[in-house]
Amino acid sequence: MLLVDGHEDIASNVLFHGRDVRRSVTETRARETAARAVSGVQPAFDAGTAMLGLPEHRRGGVGLVFATIFVAPGEREAMAAKGLAQLRYYHDLARQPEAGVRLITTRDELATLERDFAAASTPERRPVGFVLLMEGADPLRDPAELARWSGEGLRLLGLSWHATRYAGGTGAPGPLTDLGRALLGEMQRLGVALDISHLAEESFWQALDHFSGTVIASHSNCRAYVPTDRQLSDEMIQAIAARDGVMGTVLANPFLVDGWTREATASVTLDAVVRHIDHICQLTGSAAHSAIGSDFDGGFGVETTPLELDSVADLGAIGAALTARGYRAEDVASILGGNWLRILRRALPA
Ligand SMILES: [Zn+2]
Repeated sequence: MLLVDGHEDIASNVLFHGRDVRRSVTETRARETAARAVSGVQPAFDAGTAMLGLPEHRRGGVGLVFATIFVAPGEREAMAAKGLAQLRYYHDLARQPEAGVRLITTRDELATLERDFAAASTPERRPVGFVLLMEGADPLRDPAELARWSGEGLRLLGLSWHATRYAGGTGAPGPLTDLGRALLGEMQRLGVALDISHLAEESFWQALDHFSGTVIASHSNCRAYVPTDRQLSDEMIQAIAARDGVMGTVLANPFLVDGWTREATASVTLDAVVRHIDHICQLTGSAAHSAIGSDFDGGFGVETTPLELDSVADLGAIGAALTARGYRAEDVASILGGNWLRILRRALPA
């Protein structure tokens, strides 16, 4: 079975933290441990212990990921340059035959990926598809630039992270701006799907009114269990389901358990993940709107994930936990990949 992960910050890890997703997780960990031992200092930004590596994607059957272009808030031209560097990185990676990575930009490319993934004689030969997702629209200096990005394969776009010039975001409540409305218009015209993760609630409701295309939450959990503005209320989840959208559960302990502390990590298991997934399924009346959006290596590492997960190779363990909870095989398959595939078959251009 082809598993799909709806959120992985791959390019920003390469460009800002010197990681290389072509290496195995084991190798990346060994290199980073050795580097710390030599320098004797912790890096300024501690990204935690790595969980992403293409060998682990293949071993775990994770054949498709939404690969992000992520830029922290900063000066306008600098954000545009950093965004374009990440776009170039993905295109360069996809041009290296030995990397086995494909950018998935059309329905045909998706169908070919699924076929080749199923036909691979060993896990090592599996292709890994990347669908490009911009997390926060700041690399776009202007909505008119979206046409070029879309031409370069961008298929999913979130308006905000913290606040952007386009909308309110996490920890920064506020409405859509005029620029945000214009950008939604361009997305509609070009067929770029909207990722509402990180969107401030006021902006969220306005965006649903202004945009009739495909809506997802690539990486968001349930506010019912973790009551912060970063997660989604029951009403927001129901609104996404009403648009036949899908929501990826983040596998970071602070997003799974309210009031989590580093000391409490030992007690967090996949039960916490199942609790969020089950809440979405109960609330929406089916297993069609819940998926995985791990956010692995998105500023946290294995120290901050449920006990059963050591790397991206272990995503299938969520299926076993759902099965133990009584979920039918077809529903488990939907949650681990089928729901994201349904969204892409609809949202990608022919
Ligand atoms: Zn994020």
